[in-house]
Amino acid sequence: MAPVGISSVRKSFGALEVVHGVSIDIKDGEFVVLVGPSGCGKSTLLRMVAGLEDVTSGEIKIGEKVINNLLPRDRDVAMVFQSYALYPLKNVRENMAFGLRMRRTAKEVVEERVASASKTLGLKEYLERFPKELSGGQRQRVAMGRAIVRAPQVFLFDEPLSNLDARLRAQMRVEISLRHERLRTTSIYVTHDQVEAMTMADRIAVMRDGIVEQFGTPTELYDQPANAFVASFIGSPPINMMKGSLQRTAEEAWVDLGAGVRLPVPQGGNGETGMPVTYGVRPENIVIGGPHALEARVTLVEMMGPNYQVLATSGEHQLCLTVDRSNRVAAGDLISLGFDLKSVHLFDQKTGVRI
Ligand code: ADP
Ligand code: MG
Repeated sequence: MAPVGISSVRKSFGALEVVHGVSIDIKDGEFVVLVGPSGCGKSTLLRMVAGLEDVTSGEIKIGEKVINNLLPRDRDVAMVFQSYALYPLKNVRENMAFGLRMRRTAKEVVEERVASASKTLGLKEYLERFPKELSGGQRQRVAMGRAIVRAPQVFLFDEPLSNLDARLRAQMRVEISLRHERLRTTSIYVTHDQVEAMTMADRIAVMRDGIVEQFGTPTELYDQPANAFVASFIGSPPINMMKGSLQRTAEEAWVDLGAGVRLPVPQGGNGETGMPVTYGVRPENIVIGGPHALEARVTLVEMMGPNYQVLATSGEHQLCLTVDRSNRVAAGDLISLGFDLKSVHLFDQKTGVRI
């Protein structure tokens, strides 16, 4: 195990730069998730740590050692890919053992590691099977097993659960987290799924277009998003965003949505009067009734099990709120919405930065 230091790392393919100076310090034993939309540079960054892509500039360290120019096999990392890349003609045992054999590991050590990994992964009964005789979830476990037997300093995961159905994905998420609790191997996990990021990470780096927008714990990202992009990317259903202009007097502050609609804002915030802002409020921070009312028409009520998800329109704004099932609410109703002011965020419309 070791910390991983990524400093000012850039990557160009020909003339095109796709990673624009990323710096992330990952602590020893930490589980860090890189999350962001498709094409933002997550895999490229991970592949630079693995040694599968050159670093154009900047520095990557594992422990005290700069690894930019080490061959992949000398980096002591193990990677799990989205396409599990199992050897079709080798059985489970041989798939798991192959990497160790290539490194000329002693036969007894290989056997012991494969036995122990297949036990933790629930693969003991499947050691003689071939990949085509396994389910998607079992193949995924074999791919994990191949990484685990290596006992590397760092695990790298690139969307390892993307090929699984929703139920199995949720189950594997828990398994990976539990295994991390036990092994505490420094891990970097790439996904485009914010739920995976929020549930598995010690810390999350939210990426967009080759930069890191924010690096923090799941709670920090959810409660104190650095900007409108992070606020919108994290959370499901997503935060409601309404554009307006900030207004202040000595006594109070509000956002003017136009057409005479005013939304109250928290006391003591920043921003000058007249500033174009976006008013952000998460679905669970809206209540039906209460103070600070905004009139809205219900368009759809979705039964989610523990609560209702209500879609409503107010003027040009579409809003989503999650409310307790004790609310009697149906499509067509005119309702008034109240906001939990402690949880309201304001963003500068020009820069997107939270103010
Ligand atoms: P992500 O994993 O976040 O979806 P990638 O790291 O795969 O994104 O890609 C980031 C950007 O780099 C994309 O625009 C992609 O088209 C480009 N890219 C990735 N690999 C190559 C390559 N080998 N040659 C040229 N462009 C590439
Ligand atoms: Mg990718």
